[in-house]
Amino acid sequence: MPRRILLLGPPGSGKGTQAALISKALGIPHISTGEMLRDAVSAGTELGAKAEALMAAGDFVPDDLVVAIVDERLRQDDAQSGFLLDGFPRNVAQAEALGSSSAPDIGTVILLKVDTDEIVKRLMKRGAEQGRADDNEETVRRRLEIYQAETAPLVEFYGSSVLAVDGIGTIDDVFARVALALSGS
Ligand code: ADP
Repeated sequence: MPRRILLLGPPGSGKGTQAALISKALGIPHISTGEMLRDAVSAGTELGAKAEALMAAGDFVPDDLVVAIVDERLRQDDAQSGFLLDGFPRNVAQAEALGSSSAPDIGTVILLKVDTDEIVKRLMKRGAEQGRADDNEETVRRRLEIYQAETAPLVEFYGSSVLAVDGIGTIDDVFARVALALSGS
């Protein structure tokens, strides 16, 4: 099974949930840029201060900042035998930066497919339950537009490494599909 995996999909497609399961099953670290940035915001670091307003508006944090935190994370010991990237790369420039970093090549890209109506429903529910600053209708629409414009082109960028998985269903149903896709790759 591949051990350098990238998880791609629109906001609300369940990347974080599936990433935690894949990471546990394969014993590889789950590296989420969204989570690292939210941690930086709560810790009140310089990076957090730069990221906070952008994230709340649904905009990307500048590539150089995100590329730097991923680069540093990928150098740590636990990432040497594999990793699962969630939320990075988010555009072609970040994918190119990853490709030219010291990290080994990405083996497999899992694309979680979920339609827009379902995404808006899920994120509104998450906003009400967890109070994430970026889960309100206006910001969700903006994140979806940016996903289409910036992130969706990565499917073409990664070409035949991309395995599309239907992201609708229970967490277990989706994980079974992901595991099947990974076992065949
Ligand atoms: P979601 O995919 O559900 O929108 P994430 O937790 O992956 O949530 O990301 C939340 C926010 O963090 C993004 O909307 C963006 O502002 C910022 N972010 C995360 N990863 C990146 C990245 N690779 N490049 C730029 N900004 C990022």
